[in-house]
This record gives sequence, C-alpha cells and structure tokens, in this order.
Amino acid sequence: MVSLPKVAVVGAGVAGISCATQLHAAGFPVQLFDKSRGLGGRLATRRWPTGHAFDHGAPHFAAADNTFTAALTAAGDAAQRWQPRTGDVPATDHWVGAPRMNTWLKKQVGEIPFQLNTTIKALNPVDGEWSLGIEKRKATAHADIVVLATPAPQAAVLAEADAALASQLSAIDYAPCWALMLALTDHVSSPQDVYSDFPADSPLAWLGRNAGKPGRDVDNTGWVAHATAAWSTDNLEITTDAAIARLIPAVIETLGVKRDDLGKTQAHRWRYSTVRTPAGVPYLNNDAKTLFAIGDGCLGGGVDGAYRSASALAAALITAHT
Ligand SMILES: Cc1cc2nc3c(=O)[nH]c(=O)nc-3n(C[C@H](O)[C@H](O)[C@H](O)COP(=O)(O)OP(=O)(O)OC[C@H]3O[C@@H](n4cnc5c(N)ncnc54)[C@H](O)[C@@H]3O)c2cc1C
Repeated sequence: MVSLPKVAVVGAGVAGISCATQLHAAGFPVQLFDKSRGLGGRLATRRWPTGHAFDHGAPHFAAADNTFTAALTAAGDAAQRWQPRTGDVPATDHWVGAPRMNTWLKKQVGEIPFQLNTTIKALNPVDGEWSLGIEKRKATAHADIVVLATPAPQAAVLAEADAALASQLSAIDYAPCWALMLALTDHVSSPQDVYSDFPADSPLAWLGRNAGKPGRDVDNTGWVAHATAAWSTDNLEITTDAAIARLIPAVIETLGVKRDDLGKTQAHRWRYSTVRTPAGVPYLNNDAKTLFAIGDGCLGGGVDGAYRSASALAAALITAHT
C-alpha cells in the first residue's frame, strides 16, 4: 500500500478546512493549524456576554460552484440560504452559516486534528520534509507537504525561502474593512434587514441586522456596519474609538434612530477583507510541489473562490499521490 504524504494546512478558514476535509476523505494524514481561538477565519461571529452576536466578517456568501452548493446542502441546518429584506433593492439569495458563520465549517472538520492558538512563524526544509516553527513554543511540527491557507501577505512571509512563490503571493492585494458591531437598546422596526445602496460619499458599504438571518436569536438587537474599502483605506491606522465616532453618524441616519438608542458599540479592523487583485490561478506552488498556497487570494471571489481554490488543490494532490 502506498503511504500518502503528511499534509500540514496553515489556516483554518474556508479554504484550509475545505482542502483538509477533501484530503482527509482521500486518506491523507492531515493536520490543521490556526493562530486564532476559533475555526472559520473571516467567516467570523463575535459574541458578547450580553448575548449579542455579530457576524462581523463576511456577512453572507454566494455559492456559484455546484460542488460548493452540495457541500453546504450536506451541512444541513448549519448552512442556510438567506434572502434578506432589502426594501426597494432587489434581494439576492445568499448563504450563511447558522447559527454562526463558522458553524458549517466546524461540522466539516469532524475528526481532522487541529490546533488553535497556534501561530506558524516559520517554515524550514529539514531532511526532505518541512519543519513548521510555532510561535512562543519550542515544539515544531513536521509535514511532507505544507498548504498555506492564510491571506496572501501572511503566506508570503511564511514562503520567504522560495523567492518566486513569495513574490507571486506579495502581488495579491486586499482591501481593508472597518466593521462596527452595534447593539441597539431596543428593536427598531426597520423595514429592511440589509442596507447596501448608500450614496457615493457615504463611509458605509453595508449595514445588516444580525437577527434577520436564519438560525439567529430573534431577541438579538445587534447590527453590523461595514465601511467602504476607500474609507477603510483612508482611515486604516485610526483607533477603534475614532472609527466608532466617525462611522456612527451614518448608521444613525440610515436606521433613523437617536444616539441614545445605541448601546455598546465595538469596532474591528480587517486589514485583509476582500481581494482586489487575485493571482488568477486556482493555487500557487513551489517547483518541488511541496509548498502550496490557496485561499481567496488565488481566484478572488470571496468565500466561493476560496472554496474553489481549496478544491482545485485537493483534486491535484489526490491525482498526483493516489
Ligand atoms: C468585512 C468582510 C466582508 C466580507 N464580505 C464578503 C462577502 O460579502 N462575500 C464573500 O464571499 N466574501 C466576503 N468576504 C471575504 C471572505 O470572508 C473571504 O474571502 C474568505 O472567508 C476567505 O477564506 P480563506 O480561508 O481564504 O481565508 P481566512 O478566512 O482569512 O482564513 C485564514 C486563516 O489563517 C489563519 N492564519 C493566518 N496566519 C496564520 C499563521 N501564521 N499561523 C496560523 N494561522 C494563521 C487566520 O487566523 C485565519 O483563520 C468578506 C470578508 C470580510 C473581512
């Protein structure tokens, strides 16, 4: 029996988890690592002790690819279609994880071993395999193949030993996004779950009611606002307090509420939110085909693109090694 190469996947967002899942199903020994406290990457939901929950990363996503739609459907209630109320703007059918954006990914991981709170800080070739250095730990991990499933600028740092691969990764560009999480003191009777049709001079690109999505707590009075890429770029280095102060007026005006109707508010800056300049290929690799990069940076296309990138690499590795 042929022994399959051991694969380490760095990054447990949609790309890393989807690739790991497909390789695991084909019999590859796979290990996932992520620096965060939870799975899902930018498919993120923040919960407050008050019970409020906010999908402050990707608020929803499309599934253009049939195999992606099939994977989401197989997740049952953990992934659901959402057709928000959008007032005069035609509503598009979206997908969301339920009750949190990462629920379907957590379900997919199943038995695959994963380590959270584990930042991979360096990759070194040692005796024909990769040694993965872990931040603040003496221990290292080892693998025959490493899949970098992080935003491209972070992958470029890890791939620095391969100048050509690092340079391809460095050319991929992301827009930043400031996100606000706002708890209203009471429900506003908004006719819309989502506002996305803002005037060109508005700092806001998107405003959505979390409880408007399927599977959420209907008592949650939380809303999420996303600033435009232009505003976020211009205000990239401001403090979270400044972001809140500068974005709140546009939220108040849109919802027609008073400042007193807003309770606690938090801001989160995504340095890498959506891809502006993708690589234009499903995945990137070194010449030896032992180090790969996947994710939305490859094909663009958000969550769907990240899934397609992951599936393309998984299929190529399965063909090459089985
Ligand atoms: C505000 C916002 C709005 C968005 N809107 C949409 C939308 O409407 N539709 C849509 O389709 N997409 C949207 N997106 C983009 C979408 O979220 C991404 O395209 C998708 O989630 C990318 O998945 P990924 O697996 O490639 O990367 P990620 O989800 O970023 O996963 C990468 C993982 O790598 C981990 N990591 C990074 N460095 C290391 C390291 N050194 N060691 C270990 N782990 C590491 C990170 O912690 C992270 O969990 C949005 C994103 C944001 C932030």
